[in-house]
Amino acid sequence: KPVVAIVGRPNVGKSTIFNRIVGERISIVEDIPGITRDRIYSSAEWLTHDFNIIDTGGIEIGDEPFLEQIRQQAEIAIDEADVIIFMTNGREGVTSADEQVAKILYRSNKPIVLAVNKVDNPDMKDQIYDFYALGFGEPFPISGSHGLGLGDMLDAVAASFKPREEKEYGDEVIKFSLIGRPNVGKSSLVNSLLGEDRVIVSNIAGTTRDAIDSPYKYDGQEYVIIDTAGMRKKGKVYESTEKYSVLRALRAIERSDVVLVVLDADEGIIEQDKKIAGYAHDAGRAVIIVVNKWDAVEKDEKTMDRFEKKIRDHFQFLDYAPVVFLSALTKKRIHTLLPVINMASENHAMRVQSSVLNEVVMDAVAMNPTPTDHGKRLKIFYATQVSVKPPTFVVFVNEPELMHFSYERFLENRIREAFGFEGTPIRLIARARK
Ligand code: GDP
Repeated sequence: KPVVAIVGRPNVGKSTIFNRIVGERISIVEDIPGITRDRIYSSAEWLTHDFNIIDTGGIEIGDEPFLEQIRQQAEIAIDEADVIIFMTNGREGVTSADEQVAKILYRSNKPIVLAVNKVDNPDMKDQIYDFYALGFGEPFPISGSHGLGLGDMLDAVAASFKPREEKEYGDEVIKFSLIGRPNVGKSSLVNSLLGEDRVIVSNIAGTTRDAIDSPYKYDGQEYVIIDTAGMRKKGKVYESTEKYSVLRALRAIERSDVVLVVLDADEGIIEQDKKIAGYAHDAGRAVIIVVNKWDAVEKDEKTMDRFEKKIRDHFQFLDYAPVVFLSALTKKRIHTLLPVINMASENHAMRVQSSVLNEVVMDAVAMNPTPTDHGKRLKIFYATQVSVKPPTFVVFVNEPELMHFSYERFLENRIREAFGFEGTPIRLIARARK
């Protein structure tokens, strides 16, 4: 999907426009509770175009001076986006801060769409002519608060989407990413995975992203490590800000089948780890918890069990995720990782037979009667798997409101026990039978 970034100095209304564009999107997957999306990054659509959008204004860069912040945000837009919406304010006219942003954007060779916000009524349209001086062609008058002009602006944005030359990686390739806070050892782990005993293939057929991703092949299976560049790149000021690393992680998660949540055995588990793991879970990816730096821990025969118990306490929502202990540094136990990735990936894409699924569900109902509410009982008619990655099941019932969370959990567990979905979340959706 193409990525669109909104840049502009503070108070031009970037977040309002961002929220307008993102809107309320309802889909079969996204009406599941618990979907977290960082406020600065979201998928969106316009007519037939699907894209992702970033509000760079939401990325605060430490205590850098005002102009430096704007500059960094423009750099992020240039680094991350395929098309940039440069937003200004029609009420205030062209300011020197706008000119500063323009100067940075000139140097990018990304398509730029110039938007003049807060043009709330047609009389104000004359005021937009000054904005031609910024040098990005026709300015698009818009009004975030009234929702005006967005269609024309988005047409211009969509017109700049390059046709995707090639498809991304094929289905036979397992795409995985490593996420985790700085210094847990993500880059080191990538390096040891790509070590000399692996065959590094420079180009898997149909890949154009080898500069960002690392494709390789092991034991006949093709893999791509997503966004290796994002892990290796260190140096720019904004790269250490939390929001920016979240943004990178979300993008990597989105392109992955399997997400490795990397923890530091030596430092233990902190709140930030939980938050990061939550993104992978909410996105419906297969998840593996990797405890790195296992070499640095003093151990006896109980240490691993104790650590795993701690993980289970902290990451209750990831009860399906296998835990792998290893050391990227000494490479000890590193060979245990790929088989787990293969397993999780397979389960993430698993389709089960409808007849067997319905037997499992009906047996479950016979074992544990459905809940009642005000004398009305939930009736389950039929269950069917509607999609994979993650496996998603629709359960047709008399009244969806009668499907309580605890009963849903019970059914989910029965389905897991019957089919073994280790490593992947599964989703259950109750729908009224038509
Ligand atoms: P990233 O920020 O998550 O990519 O982390 P790095 O890969 O840059 O690693 C951060 C630091 O942890 C470096 O000094 C590594 O040498 C060290 N490190 C990485 N993996 C291990 C490990 O398995 N054991 C030990 N003891 N140190 C490690």
